Amino acid sequence: MSGVTTYQNYIDGAFVASASGETRENRNPATNALLSHVPESDANDVQRAVEAARGAQKAWAARPAIQRAGYLHALADKLRENVDHLATVIVAEQGKVRALAETEVNFTAEYLDYMAEWARRIEGEIIESDRPGEHMFLFRKPLGVVAGILPWNFPFFLIARKMAPALVTGNTIVIKPSEETPNNCFEFTKLLDTLDLPKGVFNVVSGGGATTGSALTAHPNVDMISFTGSVATGSAIMHNAADNITKVNLELGGKAPAIVLDDADLDLAVRAIKDSRVINNGQVCNCAERVYVQRGVAEAFQQRIAEAMKATTYGDPGADASVDMGPLINQEGLDKVAAMVESAKRAGAEVLTGGNVADIGQGYHFEPTVLAACTPDMDVMKDEIFGPVLPIQVVDDLDEAIAMANNSDYGLTSSIYTRDLNSALQACRELEYGETYVNRENFEAMQGFHAGTGKSGIGGADGKHGLYEYTRTHVAYIQT
Ligand code: NAD
Repeated sequence: MSGVTTYQNYIDGAFVASASGETRENRNPATNALLSHVPESDANDVQRAVEAARGAQKAWAARPAIQRAGYLHALADKLRENVDHLATVIVAEQGKVRALAETEVNFTAEYLDYMAEWARRIEGEIIESDRPGEHMFLFRKPLGVVAGILPWNFPFFLIARKMAPALVTGNTIVIKPSEETPNNCFEFTKLLDTLDLPKGVFNVVSGGGATTGSALTAHPNVDMISFTGSVATGSAIMHNAADNITKVNLELGGKAPAIVLDDADLDLAVRAIKDSRVINNGQVCNCAERVYVQRGVAEAFQQRIAEAMKATTYGDPGADASVDMGPLINQEGLDKVAAMVESAKRAGAEVLTGGNVADIGQGYHFEPTVLAACTPDMDVMKDEIFGPVLPIQVVDDLDEAIAMANNSDYGLTSSIYTRDLNSALQACRELEYGETYVNRENFEAMQGFHAGTGKSGIGGADGKHGLYEYTRTHVAYIQT
């Protein structure tokens, strides 16, 4: 079939045939068209990749950080030269709209530059000693070999979010992309391959979670597992890590509450929360997944957000760049969203707009949906939906909203819309979340720290604190 690419793993600086000889198909979620064959890597492939990363690590770490950073800057330039091509690949295999795919590539380039700029800012410490004549130095050292396990929803950016801090601090890395979105990772790797990066510093093995992912995270020669994905997989990875006492950094799911108070700027709240449910086809870990709206403004808010969601267009983003949303990632994702909405309807939720699978002939589309009269016991208020569905509950005041918001297993992001500074500050103090957005969309900055509490994860990414997640501290006591 024309246009179908066959990719190979990238190990020790070369594209190589997989030891398993097995492949898997990668298809377009909007059209079901076959896009590529990718390796279904086995434990031997993983072994080769980890060995290559281990073999390269000491020499890589011995280079000055500014030299390591040079490769990241060069890669950023390559990405910017290839935005068009890379965005096309992302749209085809993941289904996000083209403008967002282009943003993802440009943001990734910016992120590589940002992390590279830390090269001259990696700092140890000199600590006062209790002993006369003793010097205490705290060094920051690389961990060694990092395994980066990626989800499919921001598949391109998340490569950089893991490899950039890992490499600039002197680690080497083995990446396993999601089985849903391997192509963009191999296209990223092709560009990186033109840069003469030392062999073994960056490796890619593709394959399924229970096979390739499990072999990589159970490998005794991996020093850190940097994982982004679901809570269930995060838990499975922790079990694997436990056998080898491997460090884990887990960026997991979310169930972000958005609080809309009576004094909110309603135009802003409607726009930002609607966008939050529509961006990436409703599949973003940190976007608003449930709303607590204060009674005085509830009717107006619900009517307006239902109108905004109803006006949202969807279809194949590869064929029509003007659609607001593409499909969900796969049949399983669509079935999950449909089942949660059906269950909410049965429990008394009122459908203000949407509520059904959208049959447009092809693709995994769900109608943009707003559900009112939701209650805390409904799955749509408790569990991650990952689709264009907004459940709403009416509350009497901020205290009730915060109590409802905190009654969750998750703790990634939260938001509040209010014109009152005291209400905003109370929310920031009392919301048990890693991030709170006040009067703005949920979208983190690369110099912040993206981290969840509860089942949303362990550790975090971005900024100085995210960079140092990829280091260990070593204290030297020097008696003179
Ligand atoms: P997933 O957990 O199904 O898969 C993620 C990755 O883990 C894939 O590469 C998969 O192959 C691999 N995997 C699966 N089982 C494995 C195992 N036993 N051992 C090792 N690896 C295994 O998640 P997904 O569906 O790809 O992504 C969506 C999820 O990711 C959502 O829950 C979303 O909230 C979360 N997410 C979180 C963040 C964040 O920053 N917190 C960002 C993006 C996505």
